[in-house]
Amino acid sequence: MITNLLRDNIRNLKPYSSARDEFEGNASVWLDANECPAALPNLPEGINRYPASQLQGLKDEIAKVKGVKLSQVFIGNGSDEAVDLLMRCFCQPATDKILVFPPTYGMYGVCAAVNDVSVIESILDNDFNINIKDFEENNMQRPKLTFICNPNNPTANMQNAETVRQIIEKSTGIVVVDEAYIDFCPDKSIISWINKYPNLVVLQTLSKAWGLAAARVGLAFASPQIISVMNRVKFPYNVGKPSIDIALKALQQDDEMIRRTKELIDNKNRLASELKSLQMVQKVYPSDANFLLVKFDNARQAYSKLASNGIVVRDRSTQPGCEGCLRITVGTREEVETLLNCLNDLNADNADFTDNRR
Ligand SMILES: *Cc1c(COP(=O)(O)O)cnc(C)c1O
Repeated sequence: MITNLLRDNIRNLKPYSSARDEFEGNASVWLDANECPAALPNLPEGINRYPASQLQGLKDEIAKVKGVKLSQVFIGNGSDEAVDLLMRCFCQPATDKILVFPPTYGMYGVCAAVNDVSVIESILDNDFNINIKDFEENNMQRPKLTFICNPNNPTANMQNAETVRQIIEKSTGIVVVDEAYIDFCPDKSIISWINKYPNLVVLQTLSKAWGLAAARVGLAFASPQIISVMNRVKFPYNVGKPSIDIALKALQQDDEMIRRTKELIDNKNRLASELKSLQMVQKVYPSDANFLLVKFDNARQAYSKLASNGIVVRDRSTQPGCEGCLRITVGTREEVETLLNCLNDLNADNADFTDNRR
């Protein structure tokens, strides 16, 4: 039972009941929440009111778009909120553990450290796939949460669905599958598995393909048991009304999101093939996301050259298995062009240097 996995204090938690939770029905005079009766001029209408009912509306829309039930949807202040909430719901500080598969998204480890939860690491193999034997050994320590980032950040690859299934079935705790980049490979989502596995949580976000990173809207999908606990523990008004309104507007433009996503994938494929032709590039890893992990002869040199031309990429060379690797986000066609021109210059510089030494 999922409830057995919860921390005792959370299992027994009586949630905060807000003004808007306690009144049902129609009203026109709202004097229950100590709000200001009117917004200042030139601000969005309704900004003076707490946004309880709006979140309900967004939840309806998300449930529709994702093909799940309302009771299976959690909306957070970014999916990072969901990561932290899950830790606070399930992991007893100084006692419980989580399991991660490095190299992977850094927030799992940071949230664990903040919550005084220790981290078991099962390192990915040379192709950045999960080693199921190694998982099984580590799983004997009974981690409360196991995080699978799929597609994985920073390696950009997807784990095989069968591997993910085995982990969900073998885990004695909750398995969190972080699908932050799934809109770039939507056919590979396992969101429908929440109907089968009560210990599965799927995270998604509007920060990446939907283009709403600044709005801070993250999503978690799971069994109603888990979702209701998350809703009890979260802050009452965790997502602001401007963000809710913007998210609703974005969700109405799903055709345009899909069109742009395809364009980004075209840019990615072009970027990947051009990078592969560069002398200084050793490897471009396969990607199901909107970024590429690229192994350079000299990552520091490439990073500096790009930076001095005002192009910022992410140096991942200190991550396990990522020696010499930069993570490059796919931008517009023009941005991809600018990046490639800069690396071509560097390639030419290096060739001159080699020639001069001969
Ligand atoms: C970007 C990213 C997120 C998104 O976080 P938000 O808080 O929703 O913006 C989540 N997980 C991974 C692996 C990411 O790379």
